[in-house]
Amino acid sequence: MKTYLDWRAYQDAGMGDPYADIPKHGGNFAKAIAACINSRQCETHDQQVMCPSFRVTNNPNLSTGGRVKLLKAALSNNLPEVALLDPLLREAMDHCVSCKGCKRECEASVDMALIKAEYKAQRVAQDGLGLRDRLFAFTPYWLHRAHWVNNLISLRNKYAFMRWLSDKFLGVSARHLLPVPAQKPFSWSSDGCATDDISQPVSKVVLFIDTFTRYFEPNIAHAAIFVLQASGCLVHIAEPALETPDPHRPLCCGRTFLAYGLIELARNELKRVLHALKSYIDDGYTIVGLEASCVIGLRDDARALGLGDEAESLSKHVVLFEEFLSKKIAAKRLSLSFRSPRKTRSLVHGHCHQKAVGAMKAMRRVLKCIPEHEFEIADSGCCGMAGSFGLEAEHTDIGFLMAENGLLPALRASRDATIVCNGFSCRQQIKHLTGHCAIHLAELLRETITIEKVKVL
Ligand code: SF4
Ligand code: SF4
Repeated sequence: MKTYLDWRAYQDAGMGDPYADIPKHGGNFAKAIAACINSRQCETHDQQVMCPSFRVTNNPNLSTGGRVKLLKAALSNNLPEVALLDPLLREAMDHCVSCKGCKRECEASVDMALIKAEYKAQRVAQDGLGLRDRLFAFTPYWLHRAHWVNNLISLRNKYAFMRWLSDKFLGVSARHLLPVPAQKPFSWSSDGCATDDISQPVSKVVLFIDTFTRYFEPNIAHAAIFVLQASGCLVHIAEPALETPDPHRPLCCGRTFLAYGLIELARNELKRVLHALKSYIDDGYTIVGLEASCVIGLRDDARALGLGDEAESLSKHVVLFEEFLSKKIAAKRLSLSFRSPRKTRSLVHGHCHQKAVGAMKAMRRVLKCIPEHEFEIADSGCCGMAGSFGLEAEHTDIGFLMAENGLLPALRASRDATIVCNGFSCRQQIKHLTGHCAIHLAELLRETITIEKVKVL
C-alpha cells in the first residue's frame, strides 16, 4: 500500500512486541497506529484536551483509541484502500479535530492528527476532494489572488439567503459567519528588515507571518514587531525567495493542504519556506511564529513530509512568540517596562496546539510581567472551531458542544475581562458565540509596553 507521508520515524515501533498487533498493510504508517496500547484513557474525561469529540458524545468510536481500532481493521483488510472508505471509519476520522491532545496526553503518544493527514490523503486518492474541502484547503491561494473575496464573504455573512445557499450547496454552515479578510493584508517595506535603529540587538529573529495573520489580522503582526523590537531584537520578515515557484505569493506553512490530505501541495509550501529561511537559520536567527497551529506545523508535522535534514533543522529553530519571550525572561535577557493595561483582568484561552507543546507555561511567564494585572488560564479544551471544523455544516453543532465543554462557561464567568487567545480559529469561535473580540498576546503586550525609541508601526 502506497503511503503519502514519511513514516520512517516509526520504523522500529512495536518491533519484537508480540502484542503490538501491527496491521498487515500500511508499513510504518500501520506501526504509528499500532502505538496505541488500548489503555482507554482517551475514553475518560480526566484529560485536559483529549479527546474533544469523545468528551461531548461519549461515543467510543470518536475517541483516539476508537479511531485506532477502526483504522487497524481497515489496514488488516485484504483491500485496505477500499476498507479505508468505510462509513464508520469516515465518520470517526472526520470528527477528529486534529488538536494533538492525544500526542501529548495519551501515554503512547498516538499522533492521530498526523495519522488523519495520511488517512485523508488515502481518501483523496480514492475519492477526490469535494468543492468545500477544496475551497478551505486552497485558502492561501485565493486570499492571495482573489481580492474581491472580501466583498463576497461580507455579502454572504450579511444575507441569510446567501448563507443558506452556502450551506445547501457547499456545506458551509449557515449558522456561522465566515471571517472577513482585512481591507489591506500585512505589508512591510524596508527590504524585509523591520528596523535599523538597533545597533546591538539582543537577538536576531525572523517573524514568520502565517496566512491567517497576514490576511485577516495584520494588526497582530504589527503588534508583534513592535514588541520584538522593544525587546531589543533585530526583526526580519520571512519572504519567499525570488527563484522559488510563485515568488510573489507570501509564505505559508501548508497546514490547510496537510489538513485536507493534499500532501504534495503541503510539501511544496514547506519547500518554499525552507528555501526562504535557510540562510537565516545558517546565520543563527530564531524563527518566531504567531499562530500555534502554523508553528507546530513547521516544527512537528513538517518532519513527516520527507524533506530531510533541512526540515529537521527548521524544526529546531521555530518557536512560538510566547516561547521566545518566555525564554528571554527566564534568561533575564529582556528588559522592558510595562504599564498596567486598560482592563486589569484577563482570561486566557489556550489553543489546543499550544497546550499540546506545553506553551501555556510560557504564556503564564510572559503575562506575569504585566503589573497590576490579574490573569486566569481558562480550564477549557477545544473551542470547537479547530481550523474549519466548526464551519462545516455537519460539524457545527458538535463544535458548539465542544465550546460549551469548558470555554463558554469560563467566558461567562469573566464577562468584563480581556480575552487573550493566540489561535485564529479560537478567536473566531469566541466572537461568534459571545460577541467578544479576543486578542493575541502580542496585542496585549503592545498596549502595555512603554518605550519611546521604537518606530510606531
Ligand atoms: S489512544 Fe492512547 S489513551 Fe487511547 S487507548 Fe490508545 S494508548 Fe490509550
Ligand atoms: S487529535 Fe485531538 S480530536 Fe483527534 S484523536 Fe487526538 S485528541 Fe482526539
